[in-house]
Amino acid sequence: MNYTGIKGFCEQKQVTLVAVSKTQPIDKINILYKSGQRIFGENRPQELLSKIPQMPIDCIWHIIGNLQSNKVKSILPFVDLIHSVSSLKLFQEITKQAEILGIQAKVLLQVHIAEEESKSGFEVEELLEYINNKQLIENKSISINGLMGMATFTENTDQIRSEFKGLNELFVKIQNLKVYNNFNTLSMGMSGDYQIAIEEGATMVRIGSLLFQ
Ligand SMILES: *Cc1c(COP(=O)(O)O)cnc(C)c1O
Repeated sequence: MNYTGIKGFCEQKQVTLVAVSKTQPIDKINILYKSGQRIFGENRPQELLSKIPQMPIDCIWHIIGNLQSNKVKSILPFVDLIHSVSSLKLFQEITKQAEILGIQAKVLLQVHIAEEESKSGFEVEELLEYINNKQLIENKSISINGLMGMATFTENTDQIRSEFKGLNELFVKIQNLKVYNNFNTLSMGMSGDYQIAIEEGATMVRIGSLLFQ
């Protein structure tokens, strides 16, 4: 496994490493746990809920993938950060369920930066409009901690770099609006492009296949 090298690289750059454990069996996830990894990313609620009781209680769980509104209620008590808020509807449902639970949900807003239409996220203009219109506001039930994005799946590193650069520019722009209290996480970069993402300002990377090879 490549874990130690990647972990060291991230630490040196002061970037938080989320080990994407989706589809991985518990024994493999445990190897990373024993090497010191605590933050794990999952994308399916069902899989997340079945893994949590099988892992030590000090694991920190993130939801990184498309989340359906009707699944929010079941996972919210167990997750530390939701990376993938990509619609107003989902934002509102998380706020509502967090209020019922009496917790403050931490979320990232997912932005559509890739070429592929299949990748989700707010469009840049749409997001700025929602922020301007106060449709994405924080309160005691929800904290907007930053942005997440996925680059196009391509060999063209110039394109990947320019997509990450654009997301970082948007991140800084929103930070400068000073409407959010803890807007300091920029989640971008996966197995194939995390080094470019870090060069372009990622504060958090989500790496799966490369760690579990
Ligand atoms: C699967 C996934 C990752 C990790 O992908 P790898 O290429 O295996 O590193 C990161 N982010 C999201 C949203 C994912 O769904």
